[in-house]
Amino acid sequence: MKTRDTARAFLLAATGEARPEWRTAFTTDGTAEPTGIAPVCPDEDHDPDDGSVYPCCPNPAIECLSPEIAAHLAELLNADRGAK
Ligand SMILES: [Zn+2]
Repeated sequence: MKTRDTARAFLLAATGEARPEWRTAFTTDGTAEPTGIAPVCPDEDHDPDDGSVYPCCPNPAIECLSPEIAAHLAELLNADRGAK
């Protein structure tokens, strides 16, 4: 099985979606910019402009240690949603 397929199986179990949309997220407290990524939160009470991670948010929230890398990874993962 390809790594993409195994990751999608994990995401389906973890988030209920095999191909969730990703966002940059504040995975470390006190940073000026979001340094991690997480699936977009489906909770209606979670403002899409709020990059924080709360108990309502699906896992995995992944720390990337860099706002530049976080933004790039979110872009790559979102572009990959359409791949087979
Ligand atoms: Zn949330």
